[in-house]
Amino acid sequence: MTGANFLSQSCARGGRTGRAATRKNTGVGFMLAVLIMSVRELIVLGTASQVPTRYRNHNGYLLRWDDEGFLFDPGEGTQRQMIYANVSSTAISRICITHFHGDHCLGLAGISQRISLDGAPHPVHVYFPRSGQKYYDRLRRASIFHDVATVIPHPISKAGPIDEQPSWTLTVRPLDHGVDTYGYRLQERAGRTMLPAKLAEAGVRGPMVRELIENGFIDIETDGGDEDGARVRVKLEDVSVPKPGQSVAFVMDTRMCDNAIELARGVDVLICESTYLNEDADKAHAHGHLTAAQAATIAREAGAKKLILTHFSQRYTSTEPFLAEARPIHGNTIAVRDGDVIPIPRRKKPKGSSKGTSKGTSKGTSKGSSKGASKGSRANAKPKQRPPGKTSG
Ligand SMILES: [Zn+2]
Ligand SMILES: [Zn+2]
Repeated sequence: MTGANFLSQSCARGGRTGRAATRKNTGVGFMLAVLIMSVRELIVLGTASQVPTRYRNHNGYLLRWDDEGFLFDPGEGTQRQMIYANVSSTAISRICITHFHGDHCLGLAGISQRISLDGAPHPVHVYFPRSGQKYYDRLRRASIFHDVATVIPHPISKAGPIDEQPSWTLTVRPLDHGVDTYGYRLQERAGRTMLPAKLAEAGVRGPMVRELIENGFIDIETDGGDEDGARVRVKLEDVSVPKPGQSVAFVMDTRMCDNAIELARGVDVLICESTYLNEDADKAHAHGHLTAAQAATIAREAGAKKLILTHFSQRYTSTEPFLAEARPIHGNTIAVRDGDVIPIPRRKKPKGSSKGTSKGTSKGTSKGSSKGASKGSRANAKPKQRPPGKTSG
């Protein structure tokens, strides 16, 4: 059963604590905070569409991203799945709901109460289609509880950025599902990777590096400088190379549409529904869903590096046919099961780059990533999981 599988996995993996609550730039504490913040992985809590099955829970995906935890589409049972996955409710800092079909939102009632019960030390932001405000209000306070958490609603009514932080932007686009539905894209800001050899050559060292990063240039006194202080200007671009930000797209419940492709444009990871196989393409279209081949086509058209298939119809007992259908179109495709943990693949470092020094995106992509993250760059790398069961689904 799902529970037992989850349990064995979580024991093997060890405990997962909440997000880094304290981040002081001193000593061991800071190093620990960096390690915690640097985790970028997707914890799959549920993979079923419409109705849960014996082997799959309703949807639920926790994207751990440095010191943030994005919970996408918490379906029914998400709270319990988090226990099996050994993640605390305090790990959640943001909840993103694509639409208000039950398999994408029923878990909000339980999660909302659990966040208060556990005393989340930070605000929790919830994004959802504005047209579903009444469903949000019901789920947010479905029954009696001591509501003490700071939960901040963000109703969405149009495409575009819905949250911008110093290191990332969260963007949405409407999808084609018959009811108001938005897909999400998390985009890390681009930064720069410093080149130590170039820094040394230019005579930039110590605190000067920080000044260079902050100002974009630094004026350095030359050896032969006179009393007027002859100086040479070193620009950031002279001693660093661009570092594109990482990105993840979440496309759930839609027919083929341009917005799905735009959300997934060039992403490192696309998490995409594939409710049906091609043999049921007519049903997919009729119900506003994708086939595995269509999901793979979106990934290919968008240039997504890795495709994660999920949200499978209960009519299928194995995901092997989904992979057989998708991989000829997009080779780097996996089909997930409840409990899978998928590291966000790390970017290759440019030659001669230093470890973990960059502007704008100093966290997460280069140093101190989780044990699992180092395995993520292989094409078709298998997620951490229990041994496959007979009906993986
Ligand atoms: Zn659904
Ligand atoms: Zn739906």
